[in-house]
Amino acid sequence: MTVHFPFQNTYSALPANFFARVAPTPVTSPRLIKLNRPLALQLGLDPDLLEGPEGAEILAGKRLPDGADPIAMAYAGHQFGHFVPQLGDGRAILLGEVIDADGIRRDIQLKGSGPTPFSRRGDGRAALGPVLREYIVSEAMFALGIPTTRSLAAVITGERVQRETMLPGAVLTRVAASHIRVGTFQFFAARGDTDGVRQLADHVIARHYPDIANAERPYHALLQGVIARQAELVARWLLVGFIHGVMNTDNCSISGETIDYGPCAFMDDYNPATVFSSIDEQGRYAYANQPRIALWNLTRLAECLLPLFTDDKDQAIEQAQMILSEFPEKFTTAYQAGLRQKIGLFTARDGDEALVQDLLDAMAKNEADFTLTFRGLGDAALDSTNDSVRRLFADPAAFDEWAARWRLRIADEPQSAAARQALMRSVNPAFIPRNHRVEAVIQAAMNNDDYAPFEQLIAVLAKPYEDQPDFAEYADPPQPEQRVLQTFCGT
Ligand code: AMP
Ligand code: MG
Ligand code: MG
Repeated sequence: MTVHFPFQNTYSALPANFFARVAPTPVTSPRLIKLNRPLALQLGLDPDLLEGPEGAEILAGKRLPDGADPIAMAYAGHQFGHFVPQLGDGRAILLGEVIDADGIRRDIQLKGSGPTPFSRRGDGRAALGPVLREYIVSEAMFALGIPTTRSLAAVITGERVQRETMLPGAVLTRVAASHIRVGTFQFFAARGDTDGVRQLADHVIARHYPDIANAERPYHALLQGVIARQAELVARWLLVGFIHGVMNTDNCSISGETIDYGPCAFMDDYNPATVFSSIDEQGRYAYANQPRIALWNLTRLAECLLPLFTDDKDQAIEQAQMILSEFPEKFTTAYQAGLRQKIGLFTARDGDEALVQDLLDAMAKNEADFTLTFRGLGDAALDSTNDSVRRLFADPAAFDEWAARWRLRIADEPQSAAARQALMRSVNPAFIPRNHRVEAVIQAAMNNDDYAPFEQLIAVLAKPYEDQPDFAEYADPPQPEQRVLQTFCGT
């Protein structure tokens, strides 16, 4: 039996300058570390066969499945604000697209499978640590209900990659609604290739925004659609304490999924200025800056689309500005609605925004853990003697003061305490991929070839909203000596 991938490729049917045809570079002795069996089934793939010898070879790029049409996609992008006219898949190869069980087209891409014409000075490879990190965090985001690319598999290649030291090489199989980014539009726009921009926009509308195909002004509607999804996405990030870390325009997905897990991290203590990425020296991509940066990226997208709006440049700019001006309200609406739920409010009232903000300010001042505070607040809603939250505050009285106001506010709503707690438990996770846990998993894999901690962490993070008493320690913040202060691209 051979593994059958039911490919139905469309991107590789676009004009030749959209990509480079290139096959993965075979590796010597691949070994499957992890297959995401439920995701394989969702994609119409046979998990048993994928776990067999042929599956590992395919997932390592040693063997091409039938029907694959491997390509590296062309794209450009602003990296930390500086435009690079050509980036492209330097170490990722799209095998093809399949239609999943929900009827949604999904890219299946190997990341770390060897050089491509876009590799520049890179080796086209990925190291084991970052592959495990992307697997863990992307699947955790999925379980949290946040739009994201997913991880189908991780394999080690049996070869070493040269970084600061020699490291085990690995390949991640990434699954995405597509890998089209703001930077993909920029690639064509930067070349003055308006036909390319239009063909890409038409492809994106058909694929990701089918509802607007018949809109009066489809390209305007496309910009609106991407803005709406990005506003929602970034709000969701903030509501779980996620920091992407590299919000370059080439890491900003047109479909509205979180993409490219590099130096990303979840906050422990709440601090809006939190930055983990070692290369983000200015804090451009700090936690609280993310909405502003999303709008900056979307403004770059709007610039690419201007020629499709109207021939009158001034008018096109005016139209784009109108559409872009919708972002702040869309973001704020999603963010504030999410915050209200996090503190257990069923309705919106004047003063709610200030109430939540005062909690956040007190958390920042008192170095309260973001995740535990909100999770514990659900228990405090049910039982006013529960002191689990106040103990998270350096000065517990700061919480008491706030909680008194909060109790007055919730007492004004007719819902039962149990219903309120249920609402809060459904939006406030107990388990997030805390940095120190992710690091420990990577160390066990690298130093001892031990993947049991990886499996265990993935299992816990698959049910983030459930109490898992047997794994309560996975909810704990790091001890001072476990604290991870910086994350690295690592590539
Ligand atoms: P990223 O920071 O992950 O978004 O990557 C930025 C660009 O660098 C993309 O074009 C990647 O394909 C490329 N790149 C990153 N790592 C490597 C590598 N090891 N080899 C070749 N290209 C790479
Ligand atoms: Mg990238
Ligand atoms: Mg990356």
